[in-house]
Amino acid sequence: MSERIEQEWVNSPSLQELLALLNADGGEARVAGGAVRNALLNQPISDVDIATTLVPRDVILRLKAAGHKPVPTGIEHGTITAVMGEGQTYEVTTLRQDIETDGRHAKVFYGTDWTADAKRRDLTMNALYMDADGKVFDPLGGMEDVLAQTVRFIDNAETRIREDYLRILRFFRFFAWYGSFRPDAEGLKACTRLKDGLSDLSAERIWQELAKLLAAPDPSRSILWMRTTGVLTAVLPESEKWGIDGLQGLIRAEQANNWNPDALLRLMVILPPQEERVETLATRLKLSNKVRDRLKAWANTPEPDASLKQDGFEQWLYWQNAQAVNDRLHLAIAREGDNTKKFIRQLKWLGRWEKPRFTVRGKDLLDNGMKPGPKVSERLNELETRWVESGFKLGKSELLSGVG
Ligand code: ATP
Ligand code: MG
Repeated sequence: MSERIEQEWVNSPSLQELLALLNADGGEARVAGGAVRNALLNQPISDVDIATTLVPRDVILRLKAAGHKPVPTGIEHGTITAVMGEGQTYEVTTLRQDIETDGRHAKVFYGTDWTADAKRRDLTMNALYMDADGKVFDPLGGMEDVLAQTVRFIDNAETRIREDYLRILRFFRFFAWYGSFRPDAEGLKACTRLKDGLSDLSAERIWQELAKLLAAPDPSRSILWMRTTGVLTAVLPESEKWGIDGLQGLIRAEQANNWNPDALLRLMVILPPQEERVETLATRLKLSNKVRDRLKAWANTPEPDASLKQDGFEQWLYWQNAQAVNDRLHLAIAREGDNTKKFIRQLKWLGRWEKPRFTVRGKDLLDNGMKPGPKVSERLNELETRWVESGFKLGKSELLSGVG
């Protein structure tokens, strides 16, 4: 099969200039991996990665000579980031062939053989290349798999997984994004058999893969297979014994309401809302404070109460974490109960909501004759509650009138 990619990005001047630079004087360079795969599927591309027969030193020299900026972002595995004139960046990686691995780190040496470079990649759909004219090079038959939406390991699945256990999660990630029907049987079997190896991986690599998986347009079938094979429990033991059916409802609600996919909402749906579990998960996967706080706030926020009228909702909201209420409302809508319409209205309203500001301070109480002490903050809380219950209407002087 021969195919030519005719998407606009292929003709971008900076990409064409870079490829011309690297292709001159006996060098060879092609676009590799994800960009080629996505272009064949007519999907948007994220970044354009380049593979070349030139060694990093030569890539650096050529970029400098042409007035561009080489940045050695991944020099230990042969990657130079080329910063081109207009600021566009490309990762340029020298062709490799793996000679030795310890299950995590491949020892590599540089090569000039495109097929050898293709063979050390993980999945056939990721072992594709494209030259400057858009012509596709497909040394391992990956194009057929891409078009059939078959996610398949290159050569022997077990061997590939033993070289890098992260490939188990990548198998499910790429199935979520680009697969259909059911995952390749040999791959599934190998993932099932070797899932214990996931425990050797760094937290950062696991979470990065998981987050990408959860961000797929519809990860629900992939997650189902992860559960079936025990891979889900291996990386997210907190989700064990908790239903994952909610995921489909969330995807439906996203589509019906035009919500952007949100990896964390998808995660919430497959986790029990319990602070300790969230805490354990966040620590194990080394989640950022921002992510940890969002998950904890969600776990600690009660379900939205459909019986509340608008006033009651606003007053309740005042005391809650707004992001967590936002998350809770999304999930309540995804469950499609009788109150879906009401929750949708509340969600829209929340999007424009500004938290009312309580302006009475401890100093105001002292100015009104209260003695300093623990009673001040108690009184302040009382006043705040009265103010909220008045529908945020009572003014400062009315609130302070009885103090002293
Ligand atoms: P994305 O659109 O998510 O960036 P991608 O295909 O570019 O998709 P990356 O994770 O950026 O995926 O990896 C770039 C390429 O490097 C892959 O297409 C694959 O060929 C190769 N690769 C990355 N990680 C591995 C791995 N763990 N084992 C083998 N090959 C890998
Ligand atoms: Mg990429």
